[in-house]
Amino acid sequence: MAYADWLAIYDRSYEDPPSTNIAECPDCGARELRLAFVQDTWNPERGVPRFWCGSCLTGIFFCGFTMPENATVVSAAEIPNFRIISPDD
Ligand SMILES: [Zn+2]
Repeated sequence: MAYADWLAIYDRSYEDPPSTNIAECPDCGARELRLAFVQDTWNPERGVPRFWCGSCLTGIFFCGFTMPENATVVSAAEIPNFRIISPDD
């Protein structure tokens, strides 16, 4: 599915992390979206966002960001392997 759809939902989730599981997955429609940040060891205010669907294991990937308030922070080991949608798909 369209990367733009994923990006739009990601933007909303980033603004308001607790709202993440209200949105429907752009691929399968399940309300199983997850947004979690893997904290930067050297700069605890930053993290790498991982945004994926717990149902179909599809998602998008970014580099480091400042973490929003209410962010879910996890270790890399807690992130499942998911299929990454690229802007070219
Ligand atoms: Zn899905």
